[in-house]
Amino acid sequence: MPEFSEPALDLVTLGRRLRHTRRREHLTLAALAERVGTATSALSLIENGRREPKLSLLHTLAEALGVPLDELLRPEPPSRRAALEIALERERRHPSFATLGLPPLRPGPRVPTDVLAHVVALHEELRRRDERFAATPEAARRANVELRRRMRAQDNYFPEVEAAAAEALAAVGYSAGALPQRAITGLVRHYGFTLHQVADLPDSTRSISDLVHRRIYLPQRPAGHDPRYVVLQTLGHFALRHTDPEDFADFLRQRVEANYFAAALLVPERAAAPFLLEAKRDRSLSMEDLRDVFAVSYETAAHRFTNLATRHLGITVHFTRTDATGTIYKAYENDGLPYPADSTGAIEGQPACRQFASRRVFGSTDRYGTYTQFTDTPTGTYFCTSHVEPSAAGEFAVTVGVPGPHAKWFRDSDPGRHRRSACPAPSCCRLPPQELAEKWAGQTWPSARAHSHLLAALPPGVFPGVDATDVYTFLERHAAHPQDQERQPNER
Ligand SMILES: [Zn+2]
Repeated sequence: MPEFSEPALDLVTLGRRLRHTRRREHLTLAALAERVGTATSALSLIENGRREPKLSLLHTLAEALGVPLDELLRPEPPSRRAALEIALERERRHPSFATLGLPPLRPGPRVPTDVLAHVVALHEELRRRDERFAATPEAARRANVELRRRMRAQDNYFPEVEAAAAEALAAVGYSAGALPQRAITGLVRHYGFTLHQVADLPDSTRSISDLVHRRIYLPQRPAGHDPRYVVLQTLGHFALRHTDPEDFADFLRQRVEANYFAAALLVPERAAAPFLLEAKRDRSLSMEDLRDVFAVSYETAAHRFTNLATRHLGITVHFTRTDATGTIYKAYENDGLPYPADSTGAIEGQPACRQFASRRVFGSTDRYGTYTQFTDTPTGTYFCTSHVEPSAAGEFAVTVGVPGPHAKWFRDSDPGRHRRSACPAPSCCRLPPQELAEKWAGQTWPSARAHSHLLAALPPGVFPGVDATDVYTFLERHAAHPQDQERQPNER
């Protein structure tokens, strides 16, 4: 933004002070220009803050106006009117102004001061609203921390989302077991939509809903996502009556709720809770069984277990999604597991302890099977079960853990593997071994692979991260083809 810089703002104030002084002396622009030996147009540019005058010319101007140079250079506006004109000019020079597409307003003498005040206030409010959505990484982290605090307070169980999911299931006559394909089609119809699989869905989206033609567009080959999950998540926004998100925190909350809704349909509470209770009674709880019985991904099964474990089984839990470097992407706990956190309290982006199951599983010979271990931590011993899943963005470990005494409810609850973690104490695994540190400290310059995708600032817009131009041109392209064939999402 070359135009929007501090010196430019000073030029605007300087110009206004110059004009103010000239008018006070009852001089026309032409008269003053003549007196100081410069062109009228040049003086006009200076008064409008568009040209920086040479210091020598400033001296001459101050002299011609009979004021000390300091008077022209003072940083405050000469009057309330001038302050408003400067504020308006500042808005006009802001990079976001051009995006508003407004007709120009020249604050000439015919524009009343109260009108000017009104316009400036509108601009300031517009920009304030605009900036609410421009989530900086820090704002995004804080919103996430707040959301996790609320999830923890209700043991990650959302009664109103469960109720909405139960209502939807009742509407399509669901009774028991895994959700059949025809139930998904029925749900889409229940909410008044048709499904359309297309090859040209914009890259920034997972699905697009056309609310005019009541269509849901899906990619032909969803990248790493269960197509049913994407459909149900989309329906979740309608079932839960989500409106355009108010701010970034609202956007995050809606996303979590829509995910929850999708998982609650694929693994319905009325079927999953009795299933889990029976497994607990038989001391054979297992994420794989939940996954297989309900025909969902391991992550959906683990997510659902986390929703239901405390409410229905009386077991506190933690859930982590980490990549092969140990970086945490998602985390939840109500069992006191000591996660690493940054100064904002954010867990995402932090490295998980090297001794945690989520790290050890990557070194396991059977990484795609299920890895279990006991981990001693400063807050107690935990039993964790971890599983690696490949994805478009690389391999991720999904880990579910419970306090040690609850291990007995799980199948294969004694893996014979026991690790000890002292994290977050730096001596646990953050500080390099002393011998190596003595040898290499100061002798290396590693270049980090940027984690810029991780909670990075999302572009502003009602739906952060979505390119609205792509979405609208996509909708336009497809709306013109009423014969677009209605299709079913493929079963996995
Ligand atoms: Zn550690």
